[in-house]
Amino acid sequence: MTQTNPCSIIQYVLQGSAFMRIDVSTIKDIKGASIDVELEGPLDPMVIAGTTLKPVTPVYVVAKATSTGHSGILVQGKARAKLQAECHRCLREFIFDVETELQEQYCKEPYRPSSGQGSEQDEVLTYNGDFVDISKEVNSLLALSIPIQLVCSSECRGLCHVCGKNLNDGECSCSDESGDIRLAPLAELYKS
Ligand SMILES: [Zn+2]
Ligand SMILES: [Zn+2]
Repeated sequence: MTQTNPCSIIQYVLQGSAFMRIDVSTIKDIKGASIDVELEGPLDPMVIAGTTLKPVTPVYVVAKATSTGHSGILVQGKARAKLQAECHRCLREFIFDVETELQEQYCKEPYRPSSGQGSEQDEVLTYNGDFVDISKEVNSLLALSIPIQLVCSSECRGLCHVCGKNLNDGECSCSDESGDIRLAPLAELYKS
């Protein structure tokens, strides 16, 4: 039996694994029992569509773990972090928030699916001993909630396609149609 991760695409963009785990020793054998947890863990740098996203804070997770019977654990909550990336329009580095909802069911290992094969087995998340490690899922879900268009602001004016000036810093002479507006104060000076 080989272990296949159903999130193979996301696994590709992750460069390691963070470490966030929930101690479920007190609840796993009591169906319906739950604990609230707050966790902080490192986030892996991600490369999405050629853009490197650097974490500037650890991932912060607020979650509730509930025993669903037969040592199954349901983890529900939210994860958030701050990332730094290059703006697609003006190429400046900027920091943005990324947040995701978390809802995952974990089964205690060794998990034996009713049939020895099939895709169902791939869908099952498992944990070992008394700890449910949610770092992979948190990383994957955060990666999925990153916007496709990374722009520093919806107002970002980008770079001038002629001279390359960052137009957020002001106009360049290329976009100045008459060409002499910027020289007007100088002309005034010479007049007097
Ligand atoms: Zn920008
Ligand atoms: Zn220009």
